[in-house]
Amino acid sequence: MGVIARYRDRLPVGPKTPELSLGEGSTPLIRSTRVGDALGVELWFKFEGMNPTGSFKDRGMAVAVAKAVEDGATGIVCASTGNTAASASAYAAHAGLTAVVLCPAGGVAAAKVAQSRAVGARFLEVRGSFDDALRSCQELAGRGDFALVNSVNPFRIEGQKTAAFEIDEELGRAPDVLALPYGGGGNTTAYAKGFAEDGVRPRMVCAQAAKRATTLASAIRIVEPAHAQEVGALVGEGTAEVVTVSDEDITRMWLEVAGEGLFCEPASAAGLAALAQVDLVPGTTVVCVLTGHGLKDTAAVDVLTAAATIVDPTVEAILAEVSR
Ligand SMILES: *Cc1c(COP(=O)(O)O)cnc(C)c1O
Repeated sequence: MGVIARYRDRLPVGPKTPELSLGEGSTPLIRSTRVGDALGVELWFKFEGMNPTGSFKDRGMAVAVAKAVEDGATGIVCASTGNTAASASAYAAHAGLTAVVLCPAGGVAAAKVAQSRAVGARFLEVRGSFDDALRSCQELAGRGDFALVNSVNPFRIEGQKTAAFEIDEELGRAPDVLALPYGGGGNTTAYAKGFAEDGVRPRMVCAQAAKRATTLASAIRIVEPAHAQEVGALVGEGTAEVVTVSDEDITRMWLEVAGEGLFCEPASAAGLAALAQVDLVPGTTVVCVLTGHGLKDTAAVDVLTAAATIVDPTVEAILAEVSR
């Protein structure tokens, strides 16, 4: 069951909204086996990489594209660091709409480009940054016909808030702390909204890259966060804190997560890197959102881990190698 069907009464959908779904949501909440102990807390991972296109974007995209269909749009348009592109392209294809996708040239992981192209999107690379691409998308959407499905589209936030509902349901209560990466801040805004609608207010730890323009965590390579104001308001009211993490911190924590058998993309480890920097009350319940799947960015794995060694197919050669 997708998010529209599962949370129909908590989303701005009506009888005319198509129940568009690729099976998004209902992602696993997995208890950490080691990192949680090291941090002295009860740590859970919300593995959003298990969504149909491999990131949390699918929750919001199901709702945003369904609403675009309802509103009679002929196509959708978005700017993307990759995952929005993959998601928008898939949901547009499923709904029979044209998807126009703009990404910063050379700045997107190859698998995400492949996902978008495979399902027939008009995939364009712009000479410029994500922020430049977003500005031109907004202008195009302003001319009508194309619905903008970046997270400035409120239906994206509505769909994404369902992750907070799932966490509360599965734990039987709200977590004490939620940690997640902060790129444009759409997901931070969405979780805050979801928790607020559940009547709870966990402490939110939001990880931004120290070098936003160039971080190896390409999914959060955003210099001008579209939701900076909302995130600022959450900080002001004491709900959220923004923690700056280096690429080295992200890399270290990515290896920790991978060491527990969870393969996420680098940006997804940023939340954990932030958790390692803040004071946590021992024994409290902490949920860390793993925003995207590791298969999204295997080039990062080549950088972060040792290459495979080539051996002869003999037991002696294999044992000699693994005992080193
Ligand atoms: C989009 C994305 C983010 C950043 O989310 P924002 O809503 O822009 O803050 C983080 N990680 C992954 C894998 C993403 O795709």
